[in-house]
Amino acid sequence: MRDEPEVAVLRLGHRPGRDDRMTTHVGLTARALGADRVVLGPEASSPAETVRDITDRFGGPFDVEVTGSPKGVIGDWDGLVVHLTMYGLPIQDVEGDLQGALDGDTAVLFVVGAEKVPFDVYERADYNVAVTNQPHSEVASLAVTLDRVFDGRELDREGADADRTVVPKETGKRVEDTSETE
Ligand code: SAM
Repeated sequence: MRDEPEVAVLRLGHRPGRDDRMTTHVGLTARALGADRVVLGPEASSPAETVRDITDRFGGPFDVEVTGSPKGVIGDWDGLVVHLTMYGLPIQDVEGDLQGALDGDTAVLFVVGAEKVPFDVYERADYNVAVTNQPHSEVASLAVTLDRVFDGRELDREGADADRTVVPKETGKRVEDTSETE
């Protein structure tokens, strides 16, 4: 979709078992909607494997990383840190700034939480951004934010190295084996 700069998603917090599905969906949403990489915490090796497996089958490029220090990723990030939180500024008011940063070759790290997010993350973030000021979900807020930032272009993105490719159909399901055609 674009050459650079990097768009990454960091999932802060993960309760094994309880958060497995949500953390997996954060990764799958990041991948499907145009991010380059998801970074998951040390407890999230199972969701990481699931997202890697989907990427292997349905294509990339997309990287899945597990880190022992999620907050270290924020501290070390060379670019813009955007924390998604119901307490932040409306996405519609800041999407232009975020698009401008990407156009200006600045990498963007989107941070989503699971449980209560420590306050120093709010302080370190360049932007605390809300998708409505209502409580909902990290998956929903990530999806809306990526779509706003990419202005819908991610919907036309074509991946590479897919073993399986879904062929859109008005009715029914069609999946082609593309493992030897690329
Ligand atoms: N109660 C937690 C807190 O105060 O940080 C939030 C828990 S919420 C289920 C999990 C994550 O969803 C949040 O950390 C945030 O990233 C995201 N989220 C939920 N509602 C949001 C909203 N309206 N806008 C942006 N992100 C939201």
